[in-house]
Amino acid sequence: MTRKKSAQTALIHTDYKAPEGFAAFPSAIHHASTVLFKNVAAMRSGDWKEKNAYTYGLHGTPTTFTLEARLAEIEDGKHCLLAPSGLAAIAMVDFALLKTGDDVLLPDNVYNPNRELGKWLSQDFGVTARYYDPLVGAGIAALIQPNTKLIWTEAPGSVSMEVPDLPAICAAAHARGVLVALDNTWSAGLALRGFELGVDIIMQALTKYQSGGSDVLMGALITRDRALHERLSLAHMRLGMGVGADDAYLVLRSLPTMKLRFDAHDKAARQLAAWLKARPEIAKVLHPAFEDCPGHAVWRRDFSGAGGLFSVLFDARYTEEQTDRFVDSLKLFKLGYSWGGANSLVMPYRIAQMRKGWREEGILVRFNVGLEDVADLIADIEAAFAAM
Ligand SMILES: *Cc1c(COP(=O)(O)O)cnc(C)c1O
Repeated sequence: MTRKKSAQTALIHTDYKAPEGFAAFPSAIHHASTVLFKNVAAMRSGDWKEKNAYTYGLHGTPTTFTLEARLAEIEDGKHCLLAPSGLAAIAMVDFALLKTGDDVLLPDNVYNPNRELGKWLSQDFGVTARYYDPLVGAGIAALIQPNTKLIWTEAPGSVSMEVPDLPAICAAAHARGVLVALDNTWSAGLALRGFELGVDIIMQALTKYQSGGSDVLMGALITRDRALHERLSLAHMRLGMGVGADDAYLVLRSLPTMKLRFDAHDKAARQLAAWLKARPEIAKVLHPAFEDCPGHAVWRRDFSGAGGLFSVLFDARYTEEQTDRFVDSLKLFKLGYSWGGANSLVMPYRIAQMRKGWREEGILVRFNVGLEDVADLIADIEAAFAAM
C-alpha cells in the first residue's frame, strides 16, 4: 500500500511527467542551483570539467553549455567559458595565469577597467603590469622579461582605435613561451579570426553585439588548447563565475541575427564616418577602415569588417566646453557607456589624462552607431555642430 502524500509534500513532490519529444527552435532555459544525480555512483563519477555531466548549477546547465558551444564555434575555437561580465572574463584570465612574481603586458590603449585591474595586481598581488604602445608590433620582443607570462591585446583599442599587429606580437610572445590574450569585442568574433592570427585566448564582452539588446552583462573566454582551457576552468570554478540562465537565453536568442546587425552597424558607421571626415569641425576620424586611423594597413590585412564603434578628434580650436555642448545637444545619440545595441551612443573621453603617451591634439568623442536611419543620425550631428 502506498501512503498518500500530505498536501504539503504534494506541493513539492509530484508524479506528473510532461510528455517527451517536445521540439522547438529556442533553447530551453534551465534554472538550477542543485542538480540531481541518479544515484551515488553517478554523483561520484561526474566531472564538471568534461561538460558531459551536470554537477551543480554554477558549473553549467544545458543552457550555458549550449551558449558556450555556439560561441566557441563562432570564433573557430574548441572551448568556451562564460562569465558574469566581460570584465569578469578578463579578471578570470589574470587570476588563472598570473601569480606573485609574474609580469603581464597590457596595451596602453587597453579597455580602462583592464588597466585598473593591472594596477590592482601591481599594488596588492606582487604581479607587475606594464603598458606598451599598441603599435609596437614585433618590437614587443624587447619588452618581454623572463617572468612575463601574459600579453593582453585589444583589436582595435575601443576608444582610440589603434589596430595592433597581432601576428607580429604573437610570434614574439610564443618565441619566449608567453601567452597572448585578445579582447576581440569590437569585431564580435565576426570580422577578425583571432586564433588564425596566433592568439591563445579570445575574450568577448557578450554585453555588446552578442546581446544586442543593451540588457545583458556577460563575458566569454574561448580557447583551442585543452590544457589552457583547464587552467581557465579551474579559475572559473574557484571564483564562482556563474551566469544566470535567463541572461544566457537572451544571448542565445540574439545570436541568429548578430551578423546581420553587425553588418548594418558597419555600413552605417562607415557612412557616418565618411560624412564626419569631410566636416571642418573634425580633425581626424579614428575608424580602422579610414586612413587617419593608426594601424589602418593592419586592419586591411587582418579584418573583414568593422562594426559600429569609432571615434573622432575634434579640431583643436574647440574647447572641452564646446565639445561637451555638442554631446549634450545630440538627440538621437544618447550619452552612455557600452555599445552593440540598436541605440546610437556617444561618449567624450579625457584621453590625454588616461594615456601617458597620448600626443594627439583635440578632444576625442566616441560614437556607437546603432540601427537608426543614417540620414537621421547625420541630421542629429549637424544640429549639434551648429549648437556647439
Ligand atoms: C564592454 C567591454 C568590456 C567589458 O564588458 P562588460 O560586460 O561591460 O564588463 C571589455 N572590453 C571591451 C573592449 C569592451 O568594450
